[in-house]
Amino acid sequence: MDLDSKLTTVAVVGAAGKMGSGITLLLAQEMARLSLLPENRGKLYRLAAIDLDADALGGLQKYVHAQAVKSAEKMTVQLRQLLADRADLVENSEIIDEYVNAVDRVVWPSTDLKAVEGADLVFEAIVEKIPVKTAVYKQLKESAPNAMFFTNTSSVPIGLLDKEAGLDGNIIGFHFYNPPPVQKLVEVIKADSTTGEISDAAADIGKRLRKTLIPSHDVAGFIGNGHFIRDGIHGLSAASELAKKEGWPKALYMVNRVSQDWLVRPMGIFQLIDYVGIDVFQFIQTVMDQHLDESLRHELIDRAVDLGVLGGQNPDGSQKPGFLDYAKGRPARVYDFETKGYVDIDSSWDEGLGELPEGFKPWKALVRDRGKGTHLASHFETITGMDTVGAKLARDYVQNSRRIGQHLVDSGVAANADDVNGVLTSGFFHLYGPINDFCK
Ligand code: NAD
Repeated sequence: MDLDSKLTTVAVVGAAGKMGSGITLLLAQEMARLSLLPENRGKLYRLAAIDLDADALGGLQKYVHAQAVKSAEKMTVQLRQLLADRADLVENSEIIDEYVNAVDRVVWPSTDLKAVEGADLVFEAIVEKIPVKTAVYKQLKESAPNAMFFTNTSSVPIGLLDKEAGLDGNIIGFHFYNPPPVQKLVEVIKADSTTGEISDAAADIGKRLRKTLIPSHDVAGFIGNGHFIRDGIHGLSAASELAKKEGWPKALYMVNRVSQDWLVRPMGIFQLIDYVGIDVFQFIQTVMDQHLDESLRHELIDRAVDLGVLGGQNPDGSQKPGFLDYAKGRPARVYDFETKGYVDIDSSWDEGLGELPEGFKPWKALVRDRGKGTHLASHFETITGMDTVGAKLARDYVQNSRRIGQHLVDSGVAANADDVNGVLTSGFFHLYGPINDFCK
């Protein structure tokens, strides 16, 4: 069966969640486009959007509708071509309505897992808990025995899900990054048991959705979280060490600042952990810890979760308080594990780090700069020769990140350094990959 045929009956499970809603939007738009092609008119297109949370499914429909309107307004030229034979559609607004109605029509919300019945492709994006995923897959398999399953898991080995749920190799890791409609990267993870047919389908879907596919070996955490979790643990350990002398708020602030500005990253490590969710970080850590021969837990994460300091995002995308608390999208306060409350960032804390390297430019100023390679080389060369606390923290960070990247290659998780660097530059928006020549 070709991809166009498979894209007539699809399901997303966990459709109303952060990732599921983005995946639903991407698929609904592609299926709506297909449904409007002259040769397909009259065919039924059905994207079952399944979630336990009925209210959230209502929100999903509104989100999909609003995003479809925005997309349609930007692609009226393409839509006119698609609907060229429809003499009845004259005004732009009619063309837009036709497309938005098609998107709305494609999405069939349901709270019943049985709604996967008949689906050829099933995308799963439910909570990152192995027993829950396994139980759900067993039910899905009963209702859709011939479906191909694409899991968005961030860390669970695909082979394990296959074995536990008895999917006969009909599953592949298709790891979108957040938010799926915007992020280009998808990590693709085949288990030893994954069939050639589903691997081919994953390649076709990735291409159709215009994603950059990077393969990862089926090792818990894969490439992206394989780097992120260990990089986070490095930051947590550096802050814990510094806190003995400086106290918690200042230590967390300093490591966050260094991992953003000294490292020229889009955000500091604690802001990133908050963005992902401290509890989500803990889920991923726990799965990796269970499946790898390496201790991957950090007591500060457990302590934060126990205290209800969880981070995460509000529905409008703004960050909830975690290690840091935010005002207008920027860190404004820091959590103090002693007093169990937040304190304002004190501008004198920067003095403890020392001056930034001369000629410093933040990530935002370099992201579209074609000469960034030269600038970064000179930035890290300056750091190599500096004797400040900030420079020392930065050197340790860069060297540790390189060790993690190299470990991912040496242990076979990534096929090569380019794949590790590609995941970090594409999925995490870093300006340079961890396997580099900086601060050697
Ligand atoms: P989320 O909590 O936002 O969404 C999960 C959704 O699944 C919720 O709407 C929930 O109601 C629904 N759900 C839970 N159990 C269900 C069940 N039994 N049947 C049907 N629906 C059920 O979670 P999320 O952050 O979107 O993560 C989903 C998956 O994607 C996880 O495996 C996660 O590791 C992975 N992932 C997350 C991110 C991220 O940045 N959030 C990035 C990449 C991958």
